[in-house]
Amino acid sequence: MLYKELVDVYEKLTSTSSKLEKRDILSDFFLVVPEDVLPFVTGLLAGYVFPKWTEKELGIGPKLLLRVISKITGIPEEKVEEYVYDSGDFGEGIEKAIELKKQQTFFDLKIEIKYLMDLFEKVSAYGGKGSQDKKIKYLSELFSAASPVEARYLARTILEQMRTGAAEGIILDAISKFSGIPRKDVEKAYLLTNDLGLIALYSKKGQDKLSKLTVTVGRPLKPMLAQIASSIDSALKDIEEPEMEVKYDGARIQVHKSGDAIKIFSRRLENITEALPEILSELKITLMPVNIICEGEVVAYKDGKIAPFQYVLRRLRRKYQISEVSEKIPLKLFLFDCLLIENKSLIDLTLKERRELLISSIKQSEIIKIADNKISREPSEIKDFYNKAVNDGHEGIMIKDYLSQYQPGARGKKWLKIKRTLETLDLVIIGAEWGEGRRKKWLSSLLLGIRDDDGNFLPIGKVATGLSDELFTEITEQLTPLILEEKGKTVTLVPKIVVEVLYDEIQHSPKYESGFALRFPRVLQIREDKGPYDSDTISRAYEIYESQEKTF
Ligand code: AMP
Repeated sequence: MLYKELVDVYEKLTSTSSKLEKRDILSDFFLVVPEDVLPFVTGLLAGYVFPKWTEKELGIGPKLLLRVISKITGIPEEKVEEYVYDSGDFGEGIEKAIELKKQQTFFDLKIEIKYLMDLFEKVSAYGGKGSQDKKIKYLSELFSAASPVEARYLARTILEQMRTGAAEGIILDAISKFSGIPRKDVEKAYLLTNDLGLIALYSKKGQDKLSKLTVTVGRPLKPMLAQIASSIDSALKDIEEPEMEVKYDGARIQVHKSGDAIKIFSRRLENITEALPEILSELKITLMPVNIICEGEVVAYKDGKIAPFQYVLRRLRRKYQISEVSEKIPLKLFLFDCLLIENKSLIDLTLKERRELLISSIKQSEIIKIADNKISREPSEIKDFYNKAVNDGHEGIMIKDYLSQYQPGARGKKWLKIKRTLETLDLVIIGAEWGEGRRKKWLSSLLLGIRDDDGNFLPIGKVATGLSDELFTEITEQLTPLILEEKGKTVTLVPKIVVEVLYDEIQHSPKYESGFALRFPRVLQIREDKGPYDSDTISRAYEIYESQEKTF
């Protein structure tokens, strides 16, 4: 199959905003994609080359790509960069460069999807810095063969800036349509495996095959999440058999053990095993079953006290000198759930059963413990548990339904959270302005975007104060490579970086496209653990707006 055929599908998807039409375009296409490239093609349609939980990545940034395009077209890098700025999109900028070149030369080689798949595999095998030359060689070969429109989509794919609107949900709809398998069964298999490509392939093989897919060590599941409870009383109304747990303020991890091999995944399902060597070595002693998947929260300690959550995130990001930092900021892991033991999925068991199995599978130590819990329906006891958790420096408590099953990816009413802080919003930085005077080198006034149901990020406010110098520097460093367009001091950004924002109130406002504005927004921290599609939505803002109406 030719890459051109996939590009035609991208073009068709872009030309309609109807979800049903998109589903039909995808479904028709899935029917004709050969099985050997189906998983790969499905990933490309969803906007990724490798599922993010694999260790594989292309490791190609905008700079490297500009170099490649400049090399093969003979157009200076700055000029290609200018095309990118002018069009506001990397793909279109690169398309223009290739177009100019193609006017002079004539060859248009046909790119096979299989060739692309093998090429990406080869590129991903060259991880380190010294391997840039090899990557440039492969990419030059690829882009020399590409037509301008192919180059546009290749660039977007490589930089993970696909905007065809083929969101996960639509792809699942299309898989269900082409295979005739009910949507809920397709979705169930997806929640258990997190691999759209695998789901497409198995759906093609038939419902029988698809239904055999289950929780597997090495394939992270989307974590079950909690809704906010406004009070203990309201939580007790929702949950019949409540179990309270301390809500630790750290980073969620999912541990997968198979024999001697242990992998640790983040909440965003990225493999972060290497960032946590001391937890890894402790897990080897702690986990008794040969195969197990369990979940917990990693918390940082500084001078014997619980350290703010940013310390854990800093550790997760760090690639070098981990041992030095791990001495300064030791970590602990509090386990609270168990999803598989000896290759048997536990997700359909009750939390009570899962927790009992977890306790009997773990040798607790100073570093790895089971999360503190308490069973009670007595509001005064719950209050005491909450006060103790908060006094000990934790974020609050979780109230979970002890009889509930584990629902991957769900944010339902089976798990509720009561936090000590005001509710914050996780928003995406979509634009910024270069500062003045002392702040000249910083992107200082940040335009915050909130997600709508279609995955667009609409402005909800600007924030320019409340950030430390350190945070400004860090944010500027992370945002600079994401600049799409620069007009005077104002820049437009690829919506990627998520920040946690505290504010005094959410107000209705015609000033911003989202229809809401934040009163006195302050950035608390960068949410390294969240991607733009994990950020909060307009519906969430609406809920908070409504609840605040009741409180005030
Ligand atoms: P939030 O990020 O506010 O939606 O809260 C959910 C997060 O709380 C989870 O993803 C975990 O990282 C964290 N957490 C801390 N302690 C617990 C616990 N005992 N049970 C479940 N999640 C917990």
